[in-house]
Amino acid sequence: MEVNLTSSRADPNFTEPRLSPSLLARRIICPAHIPAPFDRKSRLRFLGLHAYAMLQVIKRHIKSGFRLLSLEKYVNGSRIDLEFLRPDGGLRINEVKSKRILGEVDRIQAALYSDGSRSQEVVVSSRTTDILLPSEYVEEVHRRAEATRIFLLDHPDLAANSFNPNADICRTCANNRCPFLPKGRTDRGQTTQPRGGGD
Ligand code: SF4
Repeated sequence: MEVNLTSSRADPNFTEPRLSPSLLARRIICPAHIPAPFDRKSRLRFLGLHAYAMLQVIKRHIKSGFRLLSLEKYVNGSRIDLEFLRPDGGLRINEVKSKRILGEVDRIQAALYSDGSRSQEVVVSSRTTDILLPSEYVEEVHRRAEATRIFLLDHPDLAANSFNPNADICRTCANNRCPFLPKGRTDRGQTTQPRGGGD
């Protein structure tokens, strides 16, 4: 589920743009992150790898007694990759990544899809691995999301200069003003290095 980005302002008439879980996860780590767009070739490669990873995750779960309930389900403007019925009758949602090694940003993003109920399991998966997120972690991510949202809104200039380098997200950043932008990136969205596994 999309994190509620329109709540808890002092002014009830205040309206705010919504950040996708993908972007919010990155801004939680580095408020100054600017996502680099995919070029067409990278996009196609990503879609192929992601579809393959989805199939592997579905196969693993069905083998373990889960039942697939939905694929790429849209909830409040966000897309949850997979939703399963667990053998014990509860629900599990999976955020699927095409990359081999899952990082902090992937865990945070998956947690942001949670509806906040402890009965719903939240998992981030790659083609070979499923990581079940503890409910305490999911709750902590939601707290960090709220704090980040308020920081971005109340201090946009400070946020735009709050650089926090992180290997997971710097490689897909396009903030040309940042001194930590990886070498090889030539301009917004262009890099001389392959993007690697993708999201
Ligand atoms: S390159 Fe700079 S702005 Fe982008 S994520 Fe890394 S530290 Fe943040």
